[in-house]
Amino acid sequence: MFTHRNDPESNQGVGGCFTDREGGLTLGSMGSLNLGRDDVDPLAGDNRALLRDRIAVERIVTLRQVHSNRVVIVDAASLTNLDDPEADSMVTRMSDVGLAIRVADCVPVLLADQQAGVLGAAHAGRAGMQSGVVGNTVDRMRELGADRIIAWVGPHICGGCYEVPEQMAADVARTHPGAASRTRWHTPSVDLAAGVAADLQDAGATATWLNPCTFEVAALHSHRRDGAGAGRLAGVIWRVSPRG
Ligand SMILES: [Zn+2]
Repeated sequence: MFTHRNDPESNQGVGGCFTDREGGLTLGSMGSLNLGRDDVDPLAGDNRALLRDRIAVERIVTLRQVHSNRVVIVDAASLTNLDDPEADSMVTRMSDVGLAIRVADCVPVLLADQQAGVLGAAHAGRAGMQSGVVGNTVDRMRELGADRIIAWVGPHICGGCYEVPEQMAADVARTHPGAASRTRWHTPSVDLAAGVAADLQDAGATATWLNPCTFEVAALHSHRRDGAGAGRLAGVIWRVSPRG
């Protein structure tokens, strides 16, 4: 079920994980652990429940991701809204709520100030990265009291595989010079990791990279590889309430 997992007990109360394709209920190309949209896969909700039980949170919060730079604050009021908000990032001070970003090649970025108890989770694809979703997330976290922010960056397509038209690579280079790259077969590409790394550094966040390439690793969902039939993996961050 997990490509990587940080248990809260060994991380000052903050847990984080990235999922793979194993351990779910969905059949076919999206299987088995598809954590994508409920209107695409009727079993996605059941898969989410399996994940929720494994990481022992009361609730997993998801977004209607649209490749924007919009950040929403998850609090008691927002949890009463049953529809996923249209956004690509969320931040919270709540405990026992898992913030889940769903991807298949885009970059899932999990963030925390463990001392302050402030969490963030962002979906950084090419468009979101270019419009500043990572920096916006860190800004909102600081407004909630975060100071020393660490990040875990999960599985995504690598610069060696993410081929794009020449014009698109040039456009990316305008906002993220280090992210214009070349594929292994020497055509223009985007290195999302390089762009996100620059954004995290600019925002003063310390990053840990957990990034097998989704396109190359069959155990991970990849939209580039599997097309419309691709499932979604999730990056989830949560915090346990202090004891006593
Ligand atoms: Zn790759």
